[in-house]
Amino acid sequence: MERYTFFIWSVAIIIVIFIMFLFITPVEEVLLSFDVEPLNTEGEIRFILSTLDQYDAKATFFVTGDFAKNHSALTKELAWNYEVACHTMTHPRIPEINETQLRWELEECKRVIEDITNKTVRGFRAPYNLIDERTHALLPELGYDYDASGYEHLGWFYPPPTVKEVEISTLVFLPMQDYVLAHLLHLGDFGFFLMRLDKDKQISIDFHPHHIDNSRGAFQYLVGSYADDEVRFMTNAEAADEQYVAPDVLR
Ligand SMILES: [Zn+2]
Repeated sequence: MERYTFFIWSVAIIIVIFIMFLFITPVEEVLLSFDVEPLNTEGEIRFILSTLDQYDAKATFFVTGDFAKNHSALTKELAWNYEVACHTMTHPRIPEINETQLRWELEECKRVIEDITNKTVRGFRAPYNLIDERTHALLPELGYDYDASGYEHLGWFYPPPTVKEVEISTLVFLPMQDYVLAHLLHLGDFGFFLMRLDKDKQISIDFHPHHIDNSRGAFQYLVGSYADDEVRFMTNAEAADEQYVAPDVLR
């Protein structure tokens, strides 16, 4: 009998926690971002644009320099209403390249996108989310304001934020949740619904356009339901501005 009572209480507590999780912390700010790589097609990007336009949702596109060069008209168009940031020139695995190539990947990507869009590139995301301290040190020197390569799930960071670098360099670190994990687990549309359960005050979601292309309805549902909740859609640059702390304040 006692064991039965314990079981009932356990179930009740789990239900209460679940309800709190769902309803008590409303999402207020949503950062949508898209990693655009050479394999992506204009059709995939246009579908995303039509959904964002429909809900008046701001977003950030992390574009490789190669994609920008091959689709310069589309890249220019992206920059009219959205933030365009850098995803390296050729999408290498950063820890495997030398200093000279790393510098070129970051410098050339920024230059190519800025030439096409006539806007300053402020943000960076590493391919495969393989960021290292070397890159964090180089980004501010090359004129980047923030890095959005890391993940954060329930207080867990990967890779760990290099806080020291942030203080020294003023580079802002913007961790994200993302859809890639759901994709790797082959969750398909269900991954989008799971993501919707994430109830941090500010959430940052990373998408790959080809994943969205397989789940168009679920993507529209996700953006539409945030719009219904009247969240504030922000670009990563806007979020970075709000987190920015001048270096002399930190010293
Ligand atoms: Zn990528």
